[in-house]
Amino acid sequence: MPKPRTSPYLLLANIGQLLTLRGEAAPRRGAALREIGLVEGAAVVCAGGKILAAGPQREILRGPWLRSNRRKVQELDCRGGVVLPGLIDCHTHPVFAEPRLVDFEKRIAGAGYEEIAAAGGGIRSSVAGVRKAAAGQLSENVLIALNAMLEQGTSVVETKSGYGLTLEDEIKSLEAIRQAARRWPGEVVPTLLAAHVVPQEYAGRADEYVRLVCEEMIPLVARRKLARYVDVFCDRGAFTQEQSEKIMTASQRHGLGTRAHVCQFTPARLGPLLEHRPASLDHMDCVQAEDIALLARGETVAVLLPGANYFLGHKEYPDARRLIDAGAPVALATDYNPGTSPTPSMPFVISLACTHMKMSPAEAIAAATINAACALRLQDRKGSLDAGKDADMAVFDVKDYREIAYWFAWDRCVEMVVAGRPARRT
Ligand SMILES: [Zn+2]
Repeated sequence: MPKPRTSPYLLLANIGQLLTLRGEAAPRRGAALREIGLVEGAAVVCAGGKILAAGPQREILRGPWLRSNRRKVQELDCRGGVVLPGLIDCHTHPVFAEPRLVDFEKRIAGAGYEEIAAAGGGIRSSVAGVRKAAAGQLSENVLIALNAMLEQGTSVVETKSGYGLTLEDEIKSLEAIRQAARRWPGEVVPTLLAAHVVPQEYAGRADEYVRLVCEEMIPLVARRKLARYVDVFCDRGAFTQEQSEKIMTASQRHGLGTRAHVCQFTPARLGPLLEHRPASLDHMDCVQAEDIALLARGETVAVLLPGANYFLGHKEYPDARRLIDAGAPVALATDYNPGTSPTPSMPFVISLACTHMKMSPAEAIAAATINAACALRLQDRKGSLDAGKDADMAVFDVKDYREIAYWFAWDRCVEMVVAGRPARRT
């Protein structure tokens, strides 16, 4: 879809509630997570893709720049709706070929994770699909997901490879992400997740596979600038702590950031991983008390993924309250993937965080904007509406921001602004 020709100057007027999320460009912790910078009756001016000013409409309209440039400024009437920073989905797996419908039905009938894997389902069935698929088809699938995310308020997406698990197929997956990102107005942050699961052909030889990841995949991906981060699945049935650390060390040596899936199924000690200063540790369903204290002292963000708990039918959700109240920085993401969380909707995740994790709507929104920006280390440009930051905003046709969490599974996003231009497909 060609980008529409619009003015580089945009005024968002008649905003009922503006959530600026203004403040220090650092993860919000504890009580600060509830500070969303609410302005009633607001407007925002954007120029050259950046925020020029955001605040009470009366003040914005009197601003000297706007008064002398009003005629060249395009106006977007927000009709009393809610405007907030574009949502940031900081954990997704969009490079796959097919949904896993057989697994879905088996799980409904009572089958467990191991039973599904033994029957040829689980991650390995997505691996077979990706290996067979052409790069063009994978790229189309990624773009479909990115557009669905944009429709529902998301303007930045972290996207992982991880269903290829050979040098060629991981590169193919990252190239599919790059192709899709070129055709999407928002920002895509690509991540190499070659260490998702030990591929079948390396069964019993996990260390050899880790060596391939560290010595061949990471250097090539870094050289070709195909990813900004390297992720590793550190849990039962995936990679050990020691193997995960090797992957983090290799990533850092090649100038790539690190993040990890950890504590989804089994508890792990986070201290050794935190020494590598990963941008985020994700899932954290069974994080231990002493590790929460470590998180509270550092910059690593705990990314919580309640979509997976919902779709797997779990009764337990990550203990967001314990993390937040202890001062650990918390973000939210969809975990969009074909096995455990096939949703592109950040508003749905925000709703789940409220109803199942007892986060307030304000906390959940901060976790899906400024703290999610911190989880991708983009907080200097993204996640809040400060002058000079990227002009990425979502417009919702609701009167009160709490309705974003309230009307669950109802897409109330009516307009997106990305880099200062209206960007929602109609
Ligand atoms: Zn994941």
